[in-house]
Amino acid sequence: MNSQTTAKDAPAIEPAGTSPATPLGTISGNRGLRIEEPLIFEQDSPGHCGVDLPEPPALALRLGGVAPRGRIGLPGLAEPTVVRHYTRLSRNNYAIDAGFYPLGSCTMKHNPRINEKLARLPGFADLHPLQPLSTVQGALELIDTLAHWLKTLTGMPAVAMSPAAGAHGELCGMMAIRAALDHRADRPRKRVLVPESAHGTNPATAAALGFTVDTIPADARGRVDLDAFKAKLGDPATTDVAAIMLTNPNTCGLFETDIIAIAEAIHQAGAFFYCDGANFNAIVGRVRPADLGVDVMHINLHKTFSTPHGGGGPGSGPVVFSEALAPFIPLPSVVHDRDGFHLVETNDDDGATGLAFGRMKAFHGQMGMFVRALAYAMSHGADGLFQASSDAVLNANYLLARLGSDYSTPFEGPCMHEVLFDDRSLKGSGVTTLDIAKALIDEGYHPMTVYFPLVVHGAMLIEPTETETRAALDQFIAVMKGLAERAKSGHADYFHAAPTLTPRRRLDETAAARKPVLRWKAN
Ligand SMILES: *Cc1c(COP(=O)(O)O)cnc(C)c1O
Repeated sequence: MNSQTTAKDAPAIEPAGTSPATPLGTISGNRGLRIEEPLIFEQDSPGHCGVDLPEPPALALRLGGVAPRGRIGLPGLAEPTVVRHYTRLSRNNYAIDAGFYPLGSCTMKHNPRINEKLARLPGFADLHPLQPLSTVQGALELIDTLAHWLKTLTGMPAVAMSPAAGAHGELCGMMAIRAALDHRADRPRKRVLVPESAHGTNPATAAALGFTVDTIPADARGRVDLDAFKAKLGDPATTDVAAIMLTNPNTCGLFETDIIAIAEAIHQAGAFFYCDGANFNAIVGRVRPADLGVDVMHINLHKTFSTPHGGGGPGSGPVVFSEALAPFIPLPSVVHDRDGFHLVETNDDDGATGLAFGRMKAFHGQMGMFVRALAYAMSHGADGLFQASSDAVLNANYLLARLGSDYSTPFEGPCMHEVLFDDRSLKGSGVTTLDIAKALIDEGYHPMTVYFPLVVHGAMLIEPTETETRAALDQFIAVMKGLAERAKSGHADYFHAAPTLTPRRRLDETAAARKPVLRWKAN
């Protein structure tokens, strides 16, 4: 959950085993079939082991300088204790397979089982990245076919498949922009324009590469303020702007209606248009980013193309590029001729441009995610992807229509794939956005994204995705309406106590983020 809380919001953690229904607490501390147990290190029972082995004979160590300096401190435990511990922990996870997960900006859609079935085929699952190319022609063809789908859906001529996530894709795209600017060397370009509604990874990426981040305000419609943008860009003949990083649809769930004018102005100034494509789910199959003037865009396969995320799997963030940036994209890339598929691995290889800026990671990318994403694309077809983005937008607008009188909306008009509410409707109730999120957990829902985007007060960003049924949406709507009514009828205490039905109550999220305890230490 994206949330910004302060320590004072966090009541003390109540003792295990108590709840409103059992004020005395259970004797064991357990709650029904939910078992309270200490950390696995605290369960250490020296001498216990999963197997019975005879004591080794006394042998001289022959490890030289790497001889162990002491015991490594693994806990002694019987096998069933270990199995139960991890199985119980796994049952505390919430997942898209367990219930509705309306986390805005994250596209928590169903991961179709056909994807999983294909990814587990031994010919894909058991490959090693150093196998001779002649033995992995099918895998290379799969990467090439997926690349073709991504280029066709975006209208872009080149793609880098290796980035491992959206943020990694941003880094890749901005490194290509930097390489192209260095190659052109017209004048120093230090500034990157970033709208204030951007995902935090956008300014972080620009700053990590040594650019200065210059924020563009939003207008009253929740879009980039075109005049403010032009003022920041300055004189096209002398500007030091390297690029704009724009998300479309943006993180308010709105289509950037001036996007073509923005692209034209950026290009006229000799700068590049980075589009954050994490929200591609709203437009895939309908809009080709190339037609909007985009130079480079990352695609989150783990959002738009249904590969698992949120603890369920690694991400994958291929990046598509325009003609102007194509020579600079990172290696490796897959090429094919009459003899089959090959990899371009260095700037000196056949088929290389000689200008690639380097590599983003070892090997070729997240193969398992490529299989899943291609399975998703091919099982839907172009018409199915068009239908999916249409349904994603329809579902979000259904929530907007049904909840728009219970919660306040900061911007007028319909939304794209996610709906944004603010906290004006909660004013005077003593209930905050955070309280609504916590109460939702008691109702069996993963909360929406809260306090993001930063451009509205007390944001609640809800992305239902296209894979939820009408019945699932109606249940969620009923809960959201009930919570709004409860908040407005003087039940602030109920909300401040929430969640009451979870293994733990409110945690001190600020301390957890600022002073994380990442290692267990014996007392
Ligand atoms: C998810 C997201 C990102 C980052 O993607 P990761 O795969 O989490 O690194 C960037 N921008 C937007 C708008 C996003 O929604």
